[in-house]
Amino acid sequence: MRHLRFHHRLLLIAAAVLTACRTIPDVEPPVEPPRPVVHAEILRWKNGAEAAVSITFDDSTLDHYLLAAPELDRRGMAATFFVITGLMDGGVWHDGPVERQLFSWSQARELAERGHEIGSHTHSHPDLTRLEPFLAERQLVRSYQRIRREIPNQGGLTFAWPYWRSNDRTQLAASRYYIAARGGQATTPRYLHAGSIEARPDNMLDVNALGMLPRETLETWHEAAEDLLQHGGWGVLSLHGIDDGRIPHGALGWEPLHIEVYRRILDYLRAEDIWVAPFGSVAKYIERRDTTRLTVSTNGAEISIDVDSPLDPRIYDVPLTVALRFDGSPRNMQLELAPELRRVTLDVSAAGPVVVSTEPKQSAALTVALRE
Ligand SMILES: [Zn+2]
Repeated sequence: MRHLRFHHRLLLIAAAVLTACRTIPDVEPPVEPPRPVVHAEILRWKNGAEAAVSITFDDSTLDHYLLAAPELDRRGMAATFFVITGLMDGGVWHDGPVERQLFSWSQARELAERGHEIGSHTHSHPDLTRLEPFLAERQLVRSYQRIRREIPNQGGLTFAWPYWRSNDRTQLAASRYYIAARGGQATTPRYLHAGSIEARPDNMLDVNALGMLPRETLETWHEAAEDLLQHGGWGVLSLHGIDDGRIPHGALGWEPLHIEVYRRILDYLRAEDIWVAPFGSVAKYIERRDTTRLTVSTNGAEISIDVDSPLDPRIYDVPLTVALRFDGSPRNMQLELAPELRRVTLDVSAAGPVVVSTEPKQSAALTVALRE
């Protein structure tokens, strides 16, 4: 028994000596602060939404101003109004045998001030594929210049093809003035089968759109919307008239959709995690997202992100949402990068607020959301 106890004591001493040897190294290692390893990723859609939708209206008919826009404003949504620039001064469009009342330039400016986009739908609404090339070009240029003059602060402008019709020649001409152009499909199944619901359209100068016509039901809309969410893509709606059964017939656009159906579509969009934004805003986001490179470097608790973008920030004037993920930590962050930003530095030390500095100095244009 005593022998055993002695043996035990010896073992304890040996263990203590070994431990001591291990904790006293020959050379002190330099004291290094913890390095947060982060991964920066540009999110597919603003604020990490699951999908994107752009609601667009063609022909600048008065029902857009009277009915369509107020429904959007009430829900905090913005849309695109493609206008026939040469006819708005007169306020009337002779669409075949039908006479349609149009909204005015001052009303268009009002819409833009409320966050909506004003895009071009030509000067006088011809089918550009049937015009002589120089006449088609004139339609593109005149409408571009008029919108620039009336609403100067929109960045890159967008266009919608009359009758949803374009070809290689007209698209090439449009690319000299517009950053993107919208085409269309008359019915939902064709839209779905045309592979239109992707994170990046095949052709930015003929972005396919779903033409919701009065004969389409809410079920077909839901079918399209579910497909959209499944793909995480960009869905574009091409609408014309909106009818509440009360506004004068002359104020209505082509094939008007009943306002209740329109409201149900907007309410659906608001309930889902879908980024609803003008056509141009989403087109600009896609171009910036797909051409911007981020380089992350960490130094202690300081994280720097260099933003390398080939695009002109005055034309592609939308912010990008960037997610930062920290290795081995549940701490995540979302940053909104203004288009002018070239470098962002974040101090994420301790538990205090994140300190952000940016170059160029654009602190107001950058927001940080901590997702713990
Ligand atoms: Zn049209």
